[in-house]
Amino acid sequence: MQFLQEELEKLKEANLYRRRRLVQGEQGPRIVLDGRPVVLLSSNSYLGLASHPGVKRAAAEAAERFGCGSSGARLISGNMELHERLERELADFKGTEAALLFNSGYMANVGLLSTLAGPGDVILSDQLNHASIIDGCRLSRAEIKIYPHKDLRSLGDLLAQSGSFRRRLIVTEGLFSMDGDLAPLPEIVELADRYGAAIILDDAHATGVFGTNGRGTLEHFGLTGSVEVQMGTLGKALGCFGAYVAGSRLLVDYLVNKCRTFIFTTALPPETLAASLASLGIIRNEPERRRRLWENVEYLRNGLEALGFNTMGSESQIIPVFLGEALTTMTMSEMLLERGVYAQGIRPPTVPEGSSRLRLTLMATHTRDDLDTALDALEHVGKELRLLV
Ligand SMILES: *Cc1c(COP(=O)(O)O)cnc(C)c1O
Repeated sequence: MQFLQEELEKLKEANLYRRRRLVQGEQGPRIVLDGRPVVLLSSNSYLGLASHPGVKRAAAEAAERFGCGSSGARLISGNMELHERLERELADFKGTEAALLFNSGYMANVGLLSTLAGPGDVILSDQLNHASIIDGCRLSRAEIKIYPHKDLRSLGDLLAQSGSFRRRLIVTEGLFSMDGDLAPLPEIVELADRYGAAIILDDAHATGVFGTNGRGTLEHFGLTGSVEVQMGTLGKALGCFGAYVAGSRLLVDYLVNKCRTFIFTTALPPETLAASLASLGIIRNEPERRRRLWENVEYLRNGLEALGFNTMGSESQIIPVFLGEALTTMTMSEMLLERGVYAQGIRPPTVPEGSSRLRLTLMATHTRDDLDTALDALEHVGKELRLLV
């Protein structure tokens, strides 16, 4: 297999080669990365729940009581009390009739899209949608129309031309994972209504963060109840692992019967389910965590903009720092690491060519001191690379 080496060499030449870094110990706002203590600005555990004592205890107790594995698929022998409890809680949290667990957001999106759309249908997909959405679209064998990022006019035009298709589906992230901006959901909902299209909303990054009660972008926009299919993950703000789809009982019944990424896989294990239930309780009962996260967001974004960095219109805890070239991005990321700050560089194919960036993410548990350390390092490195004057 000569090609393995050749293809990897090509990636290295294009500054697109990837390697894994090792985290020792627990996740948190400061971690030990490849043996070095760093301020972590690349975590999706936005509320600091991945290492919350109550969440850890819930997982440990569930393992004691229910064991470590589910031992089967949900439709065979793997359907346990905790699955059904978590599904009821998620439905209640999202304001839907029902919810269905999936083993990851990737599997939820691939399964949803390939189950809800097929040949003869059209899927309208935002240009910046996550890879799992793209793969789900491909697997569906529906016609796929990509519209430019958040471009309502293009979306409207595509819908107006979609009359000959059997079904129309619009799929979008609520909070975009690489740009940190929000989808214009009120207008998308209106367009969907006008043209008889269904919406699939991926709220992976917004759940736990957006909306007065942390219920996501629909709550944020006052649109609760107006989107038929919502998915989200348990691995981001909830700090655990897994994913869910929330919607009508009919939708869930349909997925249970037809969705291959739900049917043909081992059910989530008890400790993960119990941990997610504990996280959901904290999200409901401790709004101050969200408040602290938003204070941190304001502080870091203002600091970055005052230094002269381009944060690409971020509206959230995901703050990109636009750099453009992959090489500059990786160099900057490495130089920041030497100063004790881990900010992941993001390059193609994750983002479009020429839009490489650092992607900073904030946690409720970052202290002012953590953020000042980060801003100092970014200023220093930015000047050294002559990106800042
Ligand atoms: C992370 C993410 C997923 C995938 O979720 P996993 O549980 O990590 O597989 C799907 N969609 C979006 C927008 C994401 O950011």
